[in-house]
Amino acid sequence: MSKPTDELFKNVISHCKEYGFVFQSSEIYDGLSAVYDYGQNGSELKNNIKTYWWKSMVQMHDNIVGIDSAIFMHPTIWKASGHVDGFSDPMIDNKVTNKRYRADQLLEDKIAKYEADGEADKAAALQTAMDNALKAEDLPRLKELIIEQDIQDPLSKDKPDWTDVRQFNLMFSTQMGAIAGDADVVYLRPETAQGIFVNYLNVQKSGRMKIPFGIAQIGKAFRNEVIARQFIIRMREFEQMEMQYFVRPGTQREWFEKWKEARLKWHLALGTDAAKYRYHEHTKLAHYADAAYDIEFDFPFGFKEVEGIHSRTDFDLSQHEKFSRKKMQYFDPELDENGKPYGNYIPYVIETSIGLDRMFLLTMINAYEEEDLSTPERQDSRTVLRLHPCLAPVKAAIFPLTKKDGLPEKAREIMDKLKLDFNIQYEEKDAIGKRYRRQDAIGTPFCITVDHQTLEDNTVTIRHRDTMVQERVAADDLEKIIGGLVSWKNLL
Ligand code: ATP
Repeated sequence: MSKPTDELFKNVISHCKEYGFVFQSSEIYDGLSAVYDYGQNGSELKNNIKTYWWKSMVQMHDNIVGIDSAIFMHPTIWKASGHVDGFSDPMIDNKVTNKRYRADQLLEDKIAKYEADGEADKAAALQTAMDNALKAEDLPRLKELIIEQDIQDPLSKDKPDWTDVRQFNLMFSTQMGAIAGDADVVYLRPETAQGIFVNYLNVQKSGRMKIPFGIAQIGKAFRNEVIARQFIIRMREFEQMEMQYFVRPGTQREWFEKWKEARLKWHLALGTDAAKYRYHEHTKLAHYADAAYDIEFDFPFGFKEVEGIHSRTDFDLSQHEKFSRKKMQYFDPELDENGKPYGNYIPYVIETSIGLDRMFLLTMINAYEEEDLSTPERQDSRTVLRLHPCLAPVKAAIFPLTKKDGLPEKAREIMDKLKLDFNIQYEEKDAIGKRYRRQDAIGTPFCITVDHQTLEDNTVTIRHRDTMVQERVAADDLEKIIGGLVSWKNLL
């Protein structure tokens, strides 16, 4: 029988802690809200997700290059991008409990509830009313909707007494320099995209890039989220993997459709059930966008955005031209249908923006299984992470059967060869069965056991994580066997 979804989610969260994937930041000081650290297995898994993204975006496209821009940027950049004036969420407090919420999220939860209860008409009507209020920045109307819908405080049974709805800017600011004054305020970037926009001509010129071309980047972003819930879904410090694709004006729709499809394909290549994904079209578009879709995943608490595909027009580059007074134009020498060069223009931009931490959680939830292995004679079970082998933190574990007779030395000799290419773990403590279980729990695709026969004929047993089948193979073939399964060729 499958587990109730909230129980599954709780189990995944405790598994993340128990097996060194994710820890609460500053835990010994009672934690820091919505900030998390990745442990020894978590950082390996996270790096592997990054590598998968980087290879498929940068390595597989000869017209996409990667950069690594600084987190601190000139403060005027955030004026130009609209973040200083407009990057805010509507918040509301319950005066009874002093708890703070995002007004739009309270309404979204109600819409999801209508949908779950099969009341599609009510869901659609509330969605429209909310979208209209957000578009018009009509904060009193948002409060009215919360009261009309009789929305309760999610964390308290007592009747709420709501404050007015106010806007709350999500950017963290700090000061730069030893004698800092008001003029020296800098922001922690709330998205990585602006680092790409302000470098687009540097990259285009130094790389002699021709339109269409893309710039990709992986990096930290910071948002002072009004309310942080659901583990690493909504963090105050998180990581994004973004790609800006610069195209000729008028071709943006075509590229938007291509990237929308390509990005979903990237997700599905990991073997995820397609029914777990859906597109969500934005009806209320951000000021810079002319089309936007989210790729959503069916988390235990419902569908939630993992990645956004946005057609950002020429908004950002035009704004930077205006605020920096530097030309952002690209000269396009290609000829149009009348035989004339397209000439100078500001490119349009398609953006793909995926949250690395949400992708991490999705991967853990997808992989996590509590498998019943009971037989009529004996009750048994195991927790196994069925991670794609390319993403697994440890590719193979190597066990000497016993701690004597030269087996540890032989095991280490085999490991020393393999570790040049793969992340390998050595374990000699406890019975083999227990060691298998520990590796299953972190998703290691192979366990290799060195026994007395190994000393005679240089063969080992290799045990496969998913089937638990064991076979005897030559130690010299291990590199090929492991390499075959964890090769990026299987994904790209
Ligand atoms: P949401 O509506 O969930 O707040 P968003 O629309 O603000 O997300 P974008 O600005 O499009 O998100 O950012 C791109 C991606 O970055 C999102 O799809 C998500 O995966 C990730 N992301 C955004 N905010 C956070 C956060 N606070 N914590 C973790 N990941 C985030």
